[in-house]
Amino acid sequence: MRYVPTIGLEIHSQLATKTKIFCGCSTEFGSEPNTHSCPVCLGMPGVLPVLNRQAIELAMRMGLLTGGNIQRMSYFARKNYFYPDLPKGYQISMFELPLIRGGHLDLRTSTGEKTIRFNRIHLEEDAGKLIHIEGDTKSYFDVNRCGVPLIEIVTEPDFETTEEITLFLNTLKEMLIFSGVSLGNMEQGNIRVDANISIRPVGQKKLGTRTEIKNMNSFVNAAIAINAEIERQTDIVEQGGSIVQETLLFDAAHKTLAAMRSKEEAHDYRYFPEPDLVPVFVDDEWIGRVRSELPEMRDQMRRRFETVYQIPAYDAEILTTSPEIACYYEETIKAGADPKKASNWIMGEVLRVLNETQLPLGEFKIKPPMLAGLLSMVEKGTISGSMAKTVFDEMRATGKDPKAIVGEQGLTQISDKDALEKIAREVISSSPDEVAKYKAGKTQVLGFFVGQVMKATGGKANPGEVNAIIREILS
Ligand SMILES: [Zn+2]
Repeated sequence: MRYVPTIGLEIHSQLATKTKIFCGCSTEFGSEPNTHSCPVCLGMPGVLPVLNRQAIELAMRMGLLTGGNIQRMSYFARKNYFYPDLPKGYQISMFELPLIRGGHLDLRTSTGEKTIRFNRIHLEEDAGKLIHIEGDTKSYFDVNRCGVPLIEIVTEPDFETTEEITLFLNTLKEMLIFSGVSLGNMEQGNIRVDANISIRPVGQKKLGTRTEIKNMNSFVNAAIAINAEIERQTDIVEQGGSIVQETLLFDAAHKTLAAMRSKEEAHDYRYFPEPDLVPVFVDDEWIGRVRSELPEMRDQMRRRFETVYQIPAYDAEILTTSPEIACYYEETIKAGADPKKASNWIMGEVLRVLNETQLPLGEFKIKPPMLAGLLSMVEKGTISGSMAKTVFDEMRATGKDPKAIVGEQGLTQISDKDALEKIAREVISSSPDEVAKYKAGKTQVLGFFVGQVMKATGGKANPGEVNAIIREILS
């Protein structure tokens, strides 16, 4: 007997706001524990949450991009539970009336088009973080994440393969990043995935009992965990057993699943409307404004780069891997660089350095106008292509302007015809054997002469000029 898996996903994504959802505390990652806290996100008595308007707008962007219905009225509820990483004792989350209902994402899979329907997109606050140090018997608590704004995207159970899941998650991540809704940094927990999984025999309509896998923070692990769970359920059913509804945790290190809690112990959340927040009312004007501010998505950007800058599809693909790279490219062109040459340098040198150093583009010392300046010096023949690489390395180490580096190091290319001719004549007169070979028709000896002149000038000669001068002398 064969089985069809049915999978639904819940994706939590941190919204790219500077401050938390209900207070002015910073959302910056990597700060000292417990430095971003205030009475509101600590849940002190007598304080009131104030909704961050930008969080609503970012969630609306995602709804508009996926064709969802923005609800004219939505509101927050208290989801009561006790967790050591949530000092309030309840999480504020949209429940009955979410901000967005419906929507979908279309995928192009290896077997054809597939539409994944969205059930809802709602807002909520994140909980804090427990820290366990190996060898230490205590638990430590960091409040910095408490109240960080999240959207939760809940899909219908439309997935049947892990190919669809991987494709979906990658597409969704790209949308989140390009729309500016989320920074999409998986290592920093910006995107976390839960999956609901069940299997049923081919031909049977009724869905099987489902299990849930929580908090997968890498797409590769999500695919591995989901496959492992489909296999586990298939084995149980084939041996005549039945699936127990439970929540599982994926252990990425051992690639295994472990039960977290069964349905019997499952928390019976007691939701009730959050009394300290008024409902969120959204009118057409607000939706219209958010729609008009939607940034360009990757597909549009890719096509625009190809047509406006006349660069190959491959280049456009690489240059749009992130909005920051795309912006860096366009700034370089705005500063006067040739589109194809700028593309070659960014795809080659710039991305190589960024990959090697893992440096964020913002901290990269060569700013677009500096790169454009370097390219223009090559264009004008002031420096050669190989010298440009040397200057580039110096620029990225020191952040100095290319002109200053070329001046300081005396790297200016020698294009002065008289000077080059003098050196060429010396090289030729000291190499009678090679001259004889050349005159006998062995024209490849030309490379030898050019090489000698380049050597004599410390690589500063313009190779094109040298080539022409030597041909002229030997003719
Ligand atoms: Zn706070």
